[in-house]
Amino acid sequence: MSSTTPAFFHPDQLAFKPAYEWAFGERIDHPETTARAEAIRASLIDLPGIDLRPPNRMPIEAIEALHDEELLMVYRRAAALEAGETLYPHVFPKLQRGKGDPSNLHMAGAWCFDAGTPLTRNTWTAAAWSAACAQEAAKAVLEEKVPMAYALSRPPGHHAQADLFGGYCYFNNAAIATETLRPHGKVAILDIDFHHGNGTQSLYYGSDEVFVCSIHGDPTEFFPFHCGYADERGEGAGEGYNLNLCLPAGTRGEAYGHLLTKVALEAIRSFGPDFLVLSAGFDGYEKDPVGGWELTTDDFETLGGILAGMGLPVVVVQEGGYYTPDLGTNAAALLTGLRR
Ligand SMILES: [Zn+2]
Repeated sequence: MSSTTPAFFHPDQLAFKPAYEWAFGERIDHPETTARAEAIRASLIDLPGIDLRPPNRMPIEAIEALHDEELLMVYRRAAALEAGETLYPHVFPKLQRGKGDPSNLHMAGAWCFDAGTPLTRNTWTAAAWSAACAQEAAKAVLEEKVPMAYALSRPPGHHAQADLFGGYCYFNNAAIATETLRPHGKVAILDIDFHHGNGTQSLYYGSDEVFVCSIHGDPTEFFPFHCGYADERGEGAGEGYNLNLCLPAGTRGEAYGHLLTKVALEAIRSFGPDFLVLSAGFDGYEKDPVGGWELTTDDFETLGGILAGMGLPVVVVQEGGYYTPDLGTNAAALLTGLRR
């Protein structure tokens, strides 16, 4: 590929610094650190052919079109928290008679599905700039006619539903990119993060206009546990437009590549998309502290090359992948493969 690849990142995405989370009943250091984005940014600066720049503006209208206004009220209320104060939802109503008052953060659990996704005064700012990266990457593909653009979206987005945050995700960045592209053609979303993209699935579950495929760790063993199973295929008009492909712990590149080429990409080709949105996580890496597969840096480059072979314009949206010294190298490897 001779053209330059636009890539987007805003420094205010680093303003949000979750310190810890509750996972499996324990307080642990929060994996969704600013070091993740900083490592990827550093590797992109050194990568030939990448034009890394900040997005122009927050996509407020696009966020409002995608997400429930009461969820946005929770985030706005959180923006008034004291400096250094962190809010962890801790009451999750199972039977909801109305969700309650979104300006009362004691009720924030009605808009959240786990105890690992805290709110601070900087959550909105960081998450909105993260969404802006996704929107700008989609716009770059449309307006600059480049075959690929990359959004260094952090915090990630694929677990965020219309009215729920969770899984370290606040705004669904892949859906922001998808909605930017949709007026211009059919969009397929491929989610290669180690975890099931439950938020993205929920947003398009009843739609035959966007095909969603997620390849992820078996949810009987891994987050989000409650969904991501093969029998979740969409509903109503969306029946058959959601494809979940689960792989066990320890999966290596060969088995992954086989499932990708023989099943996932065949299904995407059958849908006939004009654009591909790639939810790219690197937590399938063999040394990732969260994921459970054995993918190597070379596997990510191979994967990128396979996807480039689809011949579709691609908007790559960063999802998970936790800090190791190789995180930036893995992101560069995927983009190098995609630029072939
Ligand atoms: Zn993940």
